[in-house]
Amino acid sequence: MNNFLITPIEFLKGVGPQRADLLRSEIGIYTFQDLLEYYPFRYVDRSEFQQVTSLTEHDGFAQLKGRIIGVMETGVGRTKRLTAKFQDETGVIDLVWFKGARWIKSSLEANKDLMIYGRPKLFKGKWNIPHPEISKLNLNDLGGFQAVYPSTEKLTSRGLNSKGIAKLIKTVLTELNQPLEDLLSEEIRKEHRLIGRTKAMHLIHLPANEREAQQARFRLKFEELFFLQLELLVRKKITLNKSAGCMMNQVGDKFNSFYNDCLPFDLTGAQKRVLKEIRNDMRTGHHMNRLLQGDVGSGKTLVALLTMLLAVDNGFQAAIMAPTEILAIQHFESISEYMKPLGVEVALLTGSTKKKDRTILHERLLSGDIGILIGTHALLEDPVVFKNLGIVVIDEQHRFGVKQRARMWKKNELPPHILIMTATPIPRTLAMTFYGDLDVSVIDELPPGRKPITTIHRQEASRLRVFGFIKEEVAKGRQVYIVYPLINESETLDFNNLMDGYEAITRSFPSPQYNVSIVHGQMKPADKEFEMNRFVKGETQIMVATTVIEVGVNVPNASVMIIESAERFGLSQLHQLRGRVGRGAEKSFCILMTGEKLGKESMKRMDTMVRTNDGFEIAEVDLQLRGPGDIMGTQQSGDLDLKIANLASDGQLVALARDAAKGILLADPNFEKEENRPVRTKLSAMLRSRPNWGNIS
Ligand code: ADP
Ligand code: MG
Repeated sequence: MNNFLITPIEFLKGVGPQRADLLRSEIGIYTFQDLLEYYPFRYVDRSEFQQVTSLTEHDGFAQLKGRIIGVMETGVGRTKRLTAKFQDETGVIDLVWFKGARWIKSSLEANKDLMIYGRPKLFKGKWNIPHPEISKLNLNDLGGFQAVYPSTEKLTSRGLNSKGIAKLIKTVLTELNQPLEDLLSEEIRKEHRLIGRTKAMHLIHLPANEREAQQARFRLKFEELFFLQLELLVRKKITLNKSAGCMMNQVGDKFNSFYNDCLPFDLTGAQKRVLKEIRNDMRTGHHMNRLLQGDVGSGKTLVALLTMLLAVDNGFQAAIMAPTEILAIQHFESISEYMKPLGVEVALLTGSTKKKDRTILHERLLSGDIGILIGTHALLEDPVVFKNLGIVVIDEQHRFGVKQRARMWKKNELPPHILIMTATPIPRTLAMTFYGDLDVSVIDELPPGRKPITTIHRQEASRLRVFGFIKEEVAKGRQVYIVYPLINESETLDFNNLMDGYEAITRSFPSPQYNVSIVHGQMKPADKEFEMNRFVKGETQIMVATTVIEVGVNVPNASVMIIESAERFGLSQLHQLRGRVGRGAEKSFCILMTGEKLGKESMKRMDTMVRTNDGFEIAEVDLQLRGPGDIMGTQQSGDLDLKIANLASDGQLVALARDAAKGILLADPNFEKEENRPVRTKLSAMLRSRPNWGNIS
């Protein structure tokens, strides 16, 4: 490593011990290198000005030149503000400050040529610019294209606002008297048209125009993502080499006769492809750890069943674990039906399995009599011992914690293969990154003949019409879900809303003509099951519920999903809930009920739901709205520590970088070539610094 770059920050001209303390504590800058890697978050073109009369909201930031012609303070307490009238050659606009009025007022100079920079807002039909940056206009030193850096209040008070930081970075760049080591080989740079590292560092901080900044950004993002992907691939390789798994290299009778004689329909292309991926894994003798993603209704269960049959054919037992008892029972019923002609023994184990039955079950598992065990968490908690467990399928993984999954590993001498099925779509780029050491299979195709669900957004004023619609559907013999947000099951307010809603519904849908079920988290499990079952059996037509129904229940006759206060749900939850309908032959509907006034983001969520049924598209929008941290849990994304790339918006670059990383691993697995030496050095530093990272499953 270049010694210059690891020089502690206090030794930089213009820093000194006090500023160094702040740089370290406020933005984590310890060395010259850290400063170089402190990238601007945007650029401004200081040589171009807009005009007051031609501002539009789409411009984002605007730069104006003119003079202040008046200042006034208005309001008291929380409404207190400072307003300055700013005039250019075309008109006048208000500059507004809600905080720091006194200090700013004393610094505003009337009738001097100024330039201001900020984001114009339209308020009550008039434009204003809140908290603009103001500086004296100096036509000789407009500075042209400039980088803008994030700063903090404390740094700014020490003269390290964006400009101050820019100055320090410029000092480092000027003193840098030898080129930076390029971490990427010439071959990779050529192939992806990447500029060199030294040039990139100059251009990211001091570009002459947007094009140069763009070149630098592309290069640096690529590099960052390349190393991230390389790290993941190497970790995966290490795990793979270490862990032996159950060998399943035969495709036997059960699999074949089920596939050829019992399957009531053809598999979709996507199901076939995924099945092949799984088979290829299981016959290597390595341990499989695979995430199977597929939208609700895409037919994951069948893929799981075929996978389990493969295990049975190779002399192993299989287990499938569902997050709720209802779901386990549903699986049990459909799978035992399928297995009858094949003579594979199927058993059910849940929290309500009687002690006497359990004892028998344990024996039959130990003797190998049972081929497929279906159950809930009870599978983990129970002292269940298998004769030879070869695979565990986990349905709807987000309800299972990491630790619980790990417990399955110990159920056999060799760890059983693990197949995790989830309907919560995770954008591919994220899946690649967060489930780095899990392989990912995707069923991206629905069985033929599914009618897309029609989604409608309605407001309170249309409630009567919505109720009228429910009546029509019920009259046709269909069933209806009405879901209330109970984000926090203990919130009294939410709970009251649910109960009020339930009452209103029983009033509008009186018995004996209608039967209404209710299910929520504060009910006893047995009562929940009872009500769910009434609905499953068609004894009630309307199910009023909280999100407890979110996962997996299959009631093909349900054709309407009404989501109350839909603006309070996240996109992926809305999509999950919608997936509860559209499972039968009937045309299905999802109605999103919201208040009259919606924020921009809520509006976008509603529009997205109305526009598309595609879970992956929805996941992408979700990612853009919420950012990766929120989706995967902040801790994990925090660990990624990306400085310039953005998993939400740089999806294609992630894929490119991953391909490049794969390429280098293939050509030079141990990084022995001279041109890959810098890669090896950097990578081993990364592996050392995050030793346990990526141990997600
Ligand atoms: P999910 O992926 O949500 O778990 P399921 O496995 O429950 O989906 O399948 C949903 C429904 O689609 C089931 O009734 C199943 O029998 C049916 N199904 C699965 N695969 C196919 C296929 N290839 N052709 C037709 N129907 C299918
Ligand atoms: Mg399912």
